[in-house]
Amino acid sequence: MPNKKTFVYCEKCGKKLIERLPNGMWKFVFGKKAEGAKLPPVYMLIHGSLKMACIRRSCGHFNVFNYFPTNQSPTEKSGKNNKEEEQNK
Ligand SMILES: [Zn+2]
Repeated sequence: MPNKKTFVYCEKCGKKLIERLPNGMWKFVFGKKAEGAKLPPVYMLIHGSLKMACIRRSCGHFNVFNYFPTNQSPTEKSGKNNKEEEQNK
């Protein structure tokens, strides 16, 4: 399969806002690359959750994007064993 890019869109107006990389990080690129430049004016990688206003000026809707995907529940098993040590008195 070729590189498949995943984007998230404004939940209000549907404008493409930010790219989601396969490792969960966000990639935000904005502006046109100048001739001879390696990168566009804005090139950001974001690790974590973020809240951003829609970049469509007539919209401005705030979107909240969680780092953790909502369709995957973390395993609850792995957290419990570690707490037993703290309870020993
Ligand atoms: Zn919008």
